[in-house]
Amino acid sequence: MTHTLKGKPAAPAATEFASDLAAENGQLRARMAYMIEQAERNHAIMMRHQAFDLEIVGAGSFPELIGSIFRSLPAISELDSVTLSLIDEDADIRTVMEKLGVDFAAFPDLLFEPGIDGLGFDTGTRHTLAPPPKPILGMFDPVRHARQFPAPGVRLQSVAIVPLLRNKRIIGSLNLGSADPARFTPSLGTDFIEHMASIIAICLENVISNEMLKYIGLTDSLTGVYNRRYIDRRLLEEIARARRQNYAISFMYIDIDHFKRVNDTVGHQGGDEVLREVAGRIKAELRVSDALARFGGEEFVVLLIDADLDSAAFVAERIRASIAASMIGIAQGVQLSITGSIGVACLDKAGEGTAEAAALELVAHADEALYLAKSGGRNRVMRYAGT
Ligand code: GH3
Ligand code: MG
Ligand code: MG
Repeated sequence: MTHTLKGKPAAPAATEFASDLAAENGQLRARMAYMIEQAERNHAIMMRHQAFDLEIVGAGSFPELIGSIFRSLPAISELDSVTLSLIDEDADIRTVMEKLGVDFAAFPDLLFEPGIDGLGFDTGTRHTLAPPPKPILGMFDPVRHARQFPAPGVRLQSVAIVPLLRNKRIIGSLNLGSADPARFTPSLGTDFIEHMASIIAICLENVISNEMLKYIGLTDSLTGVYNRRYIDRRLLEEIARARRQNYAISFMYIDIDHFKRVNDTVGHQGGDEVLREVAGRIKAELRVSDALARFGGEEFVVLLIDADLDSAAFVAERIRASIAASMIGIAQGVQLSITGSIGVACLDKAGEGTAEAAALELVAHADEALYLAKSGGRNRVMRYAGT
C-alpha cells in the first residue's frame, strides 16, 4: 500500500498496480524456480534409475545382481529398507547357488519363500494368482510385514510390497520400506514401481537360469557332486594359485571295488543308490575348500587345496574307512558291504611347464597309485611313490 502526504491523492491506483504486479512477478518467479527445481530433481531421479537399470541389466551373476539391488536401490530411491523375497519351492535356487559358492550371509535381505502364500498378496483360496496381483502400498505393520522386513534398521512407517512377475507368473516380491509415513500410501500411483519391479524380475530370472545352466554343466546329475569338466577347470585354476602362493595341492582317485558285482547283485538302480551313498560318505570327510567330483562310472576324485601327501593320505584313509565301515542299505531291505581303493598324489613343488601339463601329471600319478591299491588287494590307500 502506498501512503501519500496530507491526503493528496497521488495516483495510488497506478502505484498499487505496479507493486501488485511486482509481487505477482515475485510469486511466479518463486513458483518457476520451485518447478525448475522439481524438474531437475525428477530428472536426476530418472537418470539415477536409468543408471540403475543399466547396472542390473549388466549383472553377470546372481550375487552381482542381488548386490546391485541392495546397494543401489535404497540410495537412488531414498528408501530405508529394501528386501527381496524369492519363491524357492524345493530350495533349488538356494542349493544351486550354494554349490556355486554364493555366500548368503552377505545378503541378509534376500529372503526365500517356499510358496506364494509367504509373499503377503491376497491369494484367497486360489493357488495361482490370476489376474496377477498389484503392489500393496500402505502403513507398515510389524506383525503383517514381519516376513518381508525381519530386521529393518530403522522404524519403518510405510511400505510397498511389489510383486515380481514373469509371464504373469509370480516369482517373488520386492519389498520397499520407508520411515516416512507419507511415502507409500494406497492412493499413490504404482506405474513407476511396477516398471522397476518388471526390470528386476527379468534380470532375476535371467541370472537364475544362467546359474542353473552353469550348475547343470558342472555337476553330476546322479550324485549331485561336481563332474569331470568342473574338476578339469578347477584343477588349472588351483594349480596356478598354488604356484603363486606356494602351497601344495593333492589329488585323490577313488574307485569302488568290484562294482560290477554290485550291479549284478542289486541291479543298475541299486548300483546307483550305492554311488549316491558313497558320494555322501566321501563328502562328509572333506573340508569345504576341497572339491569332490565323479569322474564317471564308479570313480570319484577329490582335489585337496593346501594339502601335502601326508595329510591327503590321512583324509584318504578316513574316506576308505567310512566307505567300508557300515553296510549300505538299498531298497527292499537289501544291505551291501562296499569297499573302495584310493590312490593319492601331490603336487608339492611349483614345478615347471604349463598348468595343463602339471594337471595331467597329477591325475596320472593318482591313477598310478590307485592301480597299486587295486593290485595290492583293494580296500586300501596307496600314495604315488614317484619315479
Ligand atoms: P575293480 O575292483 O577292479 O574296480 O572292479 P569293478 O567291477 O569296480 O571295475 P570296472 O571299472 O570294470 O567296473 C565298473 C562298473 O561300473 C561297470 C559299469 O557297469 C558300472 N557303472 C558305470 N557307470 C555306472 C552308473 O552310472 N551306474 C551304475 N549302477 N553302474 C555304473
Ligand atoms: Mg573303475
Ligand atoms: Mg571299480
